[in-house]
Amino acid sequence: MSRPGAGTRRNLLSISDLGPDVAGGIDEVMTLTDSFVEVSERQIPKVPALRGRTVVSLFFEDSTRTRLSFETAAKRLSADTMNFSVGTSSVKKGESLRDTIETIEAMGVDAIVVRHASSGVPKQVAQWADAAVINAGDGWHEHPTQALLDCYTIRQHAGGVAGKRIAIVGDVKHSRVARSNVAAFTALRAEVTLVAPPTLLPPSLDGWPVKVSHDLESVLATTDVCYLLRMQRERMTEALIPSLREYTALYGLTARRADLLPDGALVMHPGPMNRGVEIAAEVAERPNAVIVDQVRNGVAVRMAVLFLLLGSGTEFGGDGNG
Ligand code: ASP
Repeated sequence: MSRPGAGTRRNLLSISDLGPDVAGGIDEVMTLTDSFVEVSERQIPKVPALRGRTVVSLFFEDSTRTRLSFETAAKRLSADTMNFSVGTSSVKKGESLRDTIETIEAMGVDAIVVRHASSGVPKQVAQWADAAVINAGDGWHEHPTQALLDCYTIRQHAGGVAGKRIAIVGDVKHSRVARSNVAAFTALRAEVTLVAPPTLLPPSLDGWPVKVSHDLESVLATTDVCYLLRMQRERMTEALIPSLREYTALYGLTARRADLLPDGALVMHPGPMNRGVEIAAEVAERPNAVIVDQVRNGVAVRMAVLFLLLGSGTEFGGDGNG
């Protein structure tokens, strides 16, 4: 892949876009992230790497951390940023996605960061746009920068992802985070177990290199990273669990269950947390819960992604981008 304007355009739509050698692509982002963590710790956390470049955020779905994180990342690289708010835009007047993209592109942008409730929208945008497109979460499909920041956080606290036993617990069925994380963690040779009631698992797990359990308590003692997913009630169209109370009774990480984890095991959550549902408030405050570090690392990871797509012209682990 080469940089926009220099031949083939590069995008980050899914973890597989990190190249034919996904692990190598992730490692490249991790190494670059180290240097942007260092930049973020400076008194003036800013470098001129993307001066003159423009990054637009196009969020059709609510977001707190991802949107702020991309915006902060772009600003720390000295890029200009534009924010497209669907609520105050002509989308409300019925403007089509294609017209919206054409309008944004006509202003001259280098990268479009897209979030949408429907899977596949960032890919469609990439087919229309000349700018680099980054998927900031599309429906149940993928959220690649979340997976990258999760890999970085595990590497930071546990020395690496390879060989770690990672339990991904909860609403896997509706989770783009779970899909990107399974792809990234297994590429890095972690052992992933999905823990959920059968109704909250995808109908088919063919091609998912994971184990499955319906019994959280039996899994915890052999878990190095307990990754909790949010119960995504906005994506559930039918009753998949009897009640949230019952879900918490069987799958919530209560203080008693968290005590079953080995010493030093990490507790992670992509946010926003439903405290008292998938995670007890007290567990989220424990020193081994690295949820705030996930958010903090998100900025440096997104700086690395923006820099690789727009700044350096180097490859994401090879020529794998479609
Ligand atoms: N913030 C993450 C996402 O946008 C996780 C979640 O919403 O549950 O997918």
